[in-house]
Amino acid sequence: MEFRDLKKQYEALRPGIDAAMQRVACSSRYIMGPEVKELEAQLAEYVGTRHCISCANGTDALSIALKVWGIGPGDAVFVPDFTFFSSAEVVAAEGATPVFVDVCEDTFNIDAADLQKAIAEVRAAGILKPRVVIAVDLFGLPAGFKAVKTICDSEGLLLLEDGAQGFGGSINSKHTCSFGDIATTSFFPAKPLGCYGDGGAIFTDNDEWAALADSYRVHGKGTFKYDNVRIGMNSRLDTLQAAILQVKLKAFAEYELDAVNTAASMYNEKLAGLAGCGKLVRPAVPEGFMSSWAQYTLRLENRETRDALQAALKAAGIPSMVYYPTPMHAQTAFAGLDNRSCPVASRLCETVLSLPMHPYLTEEQVATVCDAIEAAL
Ligand SMILES: *Cc1c(COP(=O)(O)O)cnc(C)c1O
Repeated sequence: MEFRDLKKQYEALRPGIDAAMQRVACSSRYIMGPEVKELEAQLAEYVGTRHCISCANGTDALSIALKVWGIGPGDAVFVPDFTFFSSAEVVAAEGATPVFVDVCEDTFNIDAADLQKAIAEVRAAGILKPRVVIAVDLFGLPAGFKAVKTICDSEGLLLLEDGAQGFGGSINSKHTCSFGDIATTSFFPAKPLGCYGDGGAIFTDNDEWAALADSYRVHGKGTFKYDNVRIGMNSRLDTLQAAILQVKLKAFAEYELDAVNTAASMYNEKLAGLAGCGKLVRPAVPEGFMSSWAQYTLRLENRETRDALQAALKAAGIPSMVYYPTPMHAQTAFAGLDNRSCPVASRLCETVLSLPMHPYLTEEQVATVCDAIEAAL
């Protein structure tokens, strides 16, 4: 069994993907070919923003957003403590300071109450200037944007949505990557919408920020190609990846997102008994929210139980992953920071386990995984 079966997806989409790759190969327009602009328009329409600017990967997308806002030394950027390293790495790379915020144990996403507390602490210390909140749509579930946006508005902070894992999710039918003042996503192969290499995108309704992002991704270009007006990056999306993504976006919108939600429902149903007797906790999806299920992540009682379950699954030939084993505040690279303690994130790192999850998972495979979990617990 595969953790995320990309081969099966390719088999399902093969005629369209092969044709798209051949078309690009024959066209010789490998950089900024017509597929790039076409895809950007399709992504913006799907998400519901005025602009989409594609780029080389999800990490660059975050960096470009911070550059657009001029974030740098002396600025505080609030980042959830339980996320992939990129969410905080980009802040430090721009010379700003990441301030880690604890997460909600049930949704895995940023805790608004702790965010409010962290902002107050930074203001009281009087050293850093609070500028941006990065809210991550972890494991495909949109962050609690109502509360986060209220705090950003009252505190005068910009909201950056890291939707690398969240593409396709929604709150009351409004799609992820439309909640931030700027939002970003990643097309890394294992993300909900993945390409065949690296890729990413930036979304915003703001015309000025969109134009700046477009400049930063191509060496800080101005209106005349050989007069560069700012220091930028080389961060374009390849035409080949754009052409593949056009085929995959169609399948994603037409049936993959539904299929992955069906797989989640099957897990929820088959694990209801174990959840009912307190052996495990299934992932929460608040009322009105829809997840794109980048991961289906259980919580176990403690590290021993989690590790034993992972070992038992491995022995049964079932892959599982610990996303994430180390909170941001404990990363070696951030050892020099005056880090806040985030007890919920720390506990999650000891108790979470992600199961095989993708749109092509069959009912038999879900049953195999759940039977093995039942036997182990
Ligand atoms: C994957 C990921 C990124 C980075 O995306 P890349 O395309 O791999 O650079 C950023 N944030 C989160 C939460 C991610 O999961």
